[in-house]
Amino acid sequence: MLRKLLALASTTCAGALLFTYSALAKANRLETFVFNISENRIEFSTQDDIQPKGMLLESPARLVIDLPGTAFHRSTIKQTIGNAVQSVRVGQPEAGVTRLVVEFAPDLQVERETLFLQAFSPKHWTVQLPHKVAALNQTVRSNFIWPLIGELTAGFGWRVHPISGERKFHKGIDIAAPIGTPIFAAAPGIVTEAGWDEGGYGNKVVIQHADGRETLYAHNNRLFVSKGQTVRQGDPIAEVGSTGRSTGPHLHFEVIQGQQLLDPIALLPLRYILFDVAAS
Ligand SMILES: [Zn+2]
Repeated sequence: MLRKLLALASTTCAGALLFTYSALAKANRLETFVFNISENRIEFSTQDDIQPKGMLLESPARLVIDLPGTAFHRSTIKQTIGNAVQSVRVGQPEAGVTRLVVEFAPDLQVERETLFLQAFSPKHWTVQLPHKVAALNQTVRSNFIWPLIGELTAGFGWRVHPISGERKFHKGIDIAAPIGTPIFAAAPGIVTEAGWDEGGYGNKVVIQHADGRETLYAHNNRLFVSKGQTVRQGDPIAEVGSTGRSTGPHLHFEVIQGQQLLDPIALLPLRYILFDVAAS
């Protein structure tokens, strides 16, 4: 992994900070945006190499990251978060510039030395924030728990395939973890399917819940449950694998309500904020 640590350092710009990465920027687009709340970190990626510009501004305290030469073909997306990190938003302040803004509490002292912008690659960047998101404005969204603790590698909705560049609808979320890591039932229910899926899901488990929703767990290695079995929330039902149409060990997790697919992130305890930036 290419890892260029670029600490925000003082520059000649009064009150502003600038950091650069030598790369070309032309007709670019933002492809992913994730705020990992548990790690207090923002990650974003673009179609082509990008040279982001970061600024820490005051009153109100906010971190602004501009992506020059990057179009954002939709209106601003915003998510309120907590008391210290109040919100994040993505928008386009002027043609050809995509802007990411993290708003802090107005009276919060943010030390610029504690902010880091790193490049995993010239297309994939991460910003570590100094302050924990205090006192999440979290209402109970559902009774689900995370079926697997791992790295969220893909969100629900439209996405651009990293290799083919093809736009496809992703029916669930992907969470990566090593093969053999246990996967838990997100809620209590009855196992309605447990076995091999010909459609590309590999070893699959489906659980029917009392409220009518179903959860689906795909690409598993071993399965620990069988059809007709009753499971409690948090029971281990399978282990992480890479079976079926899969490029590496991960869980593909879906939530189904009748004919409808729901965004699992909206139903799970708040750990990540994902903006579906590839949709347009
Ligand atoms: Zn998936």
